[in-house]
Formats: sequence, C-alpha cells, structure tokens
Amino acid sequence: MLALMKDAKVRLFVEHPLGQGQSVALNRAQAHYLFGVMRLAEGDAVSLFNGVAGEWRARVAEAGKRGGTLLAEAQTRVQQMAPDLWLLFAPIKKARTDFIVEKAAEMGAARICPVQTDFTNAERIRQDRLQAHAVEAAEQCGGTFVPEVTALQKLSAVLDVWPADRHLMFCDEALAGLASALDGRAATAGQPWAILIGPEGGFSETERARLQALPQAQPVSLGPRILRADTAVVAAMTLWQSALGDWQ
Ligand code: SAM
Repeated sequence: MLALMKDAKVRLFVEHPLGQGQSVALNRAQAHYLFGVMRLAEGDAVSLFNGVAGEWRARVAEAGKRGGTLLAEAQTRVQQMAPDLWLLFAPIKKARTDFIVEKAAEMGAARICPVQTDFTNAERIRQDRLQAHAVEAAEQCGGTFVPEVTALQKLSAVLDVWPADRHLMFCDEALAGLASALDGRAATAGQPWAILIGPEGGFSETERARLQALPQAQPVSLGPRILRADTAVVAAMTLWQSALGDWQ
C-alpha cells in the first residue's frame, strides 16, 4: 500500500518514458545496483528521473538478479532544465577529469565538452565513462537533468563553428590578479553561454590571440592565484552561476 511505503532512498536515472502507471524494465546493471547493492525488495520505493519528465516515485514491482520492474506512481518534482551553459575544458589526468565532469554536472552545466588544446596532454577520453559520471552526479545531487558529455574535439575546430549567439567566458590565467570581467554582463543572463578552462600548461599564444579576436569571447580572471584546472572549473562555474545563472 502506498501509504505504508518507505521513503525512496535511491534515485535512479532511466532512459525510459515516465508517467503515472508506467512500468519500467530494469537492465542487469540497474537490477544489481538496486537489489544487490542497495538491498531493495518488492514494494520498496525508488525515485526515478529520465532527464525530461521531472522526478517520479516508483515502486519495485519485481526484483530479480538479472532484471526487474518498477512501477511509476506519482511525480514528486517537476522537470528543471540546466541554464544554457556549456563547459569546455581540456582533459587532464583521469581522476581529475572525472572530478571536473562530476562537479560540472552537479553545478548545472547543460553540456560538457572536452576540448584538445595546444598544450593538452590527454589524447583521448572515455566518453562513455565520463557520461556515466555525469549520470551518477545527477542521481546524487537531486538534479532532474543530465548534461551530455560530447566527444573530444580540437578547440580550434570548435571555435571555427562557434555559434554567433553564444557568449564565451574565456578563463585566461594570463589575467590572474586583474579584476574579473563578468561584471556588466547582467543583460546576458538567460542567453547561451559557455565557459572555457585550459589544461595544466595553460593556453598557447596562438590560442590566446584567436580567443581575444572572437567577438563572443569575454576574457575573465579567476582571482590573483593560478588555480589548478579542476579548481578553476568549480570557481568559474560558481562565478557564472551566481552572476548569470540559476543561483540568482
Ligand atoms: N600553466 C599555467 C600557468 O602557469 O600560467 C596555468 C594553467 S591553469 C593550471 C589551468 C587553467 O585554469 C587555465 O588555462 C585557465 O583556464 C584556468 N585558470 C587558472 N587560474 C586562473 C586565473 N587566476 N584566472 C583565470 N583563469 C585561470
């Protein structure tokens, strides 16, 4: 009975339509997580979201080792989309790249775009692994939206087709110590934006010149100290979210 159901302790992202009475078939990994790891049983509650339909309370209808079924009962939260903010970052060491994706998803990026810059060390990334980190972060933080993690692209190729209407917050370590330049951009709140963070080696002079010539780019300082790239992502997203995003 619904009134006797325990509160949902587990949030799960599912690639499945959600609605009242909707039955959701679980794959092997999901069944292992819910029944093997979290020890849920038939009748227990689970919170579900699919990135477009808000959050739903569901009940375990069937629990098995290799699968199972959930039954969606009622919407518990409406869908909340992330602001139209992309994070462009140069991949660094594996654990720190994982951290960047996790934090960007928690902090409300709409899209996460690894880019290869002149001084990027990482030649490849595991897009599927990074996407799974973004899903886990959304599950943990109560978000109803999961940002897409795109394939690794060359920064120069991304800039070749940069959208005319998308502002770019270019975090340039060469500006460390100067005043941050996001002030005065309040009118752009609600418009498409992106943040760009460079690799451990920073940006090359060629890249810096190209970015400075891009009309959509806004060079920004992140304070007087040079931050590690993963710290810089969190600092830049905090700055942007509090000035122009959904923290206001
Ligand atoms: N090797 C570079 C140097 O010594 O100048 C530092 C690069 S930093 C570790 C990595 C990235 O974080 C930079 O490319 C930039 O995007 C961002 N960043 C770090 N500190 C910053 C600051 N104070 N202002 C603006 N961007 C910063």
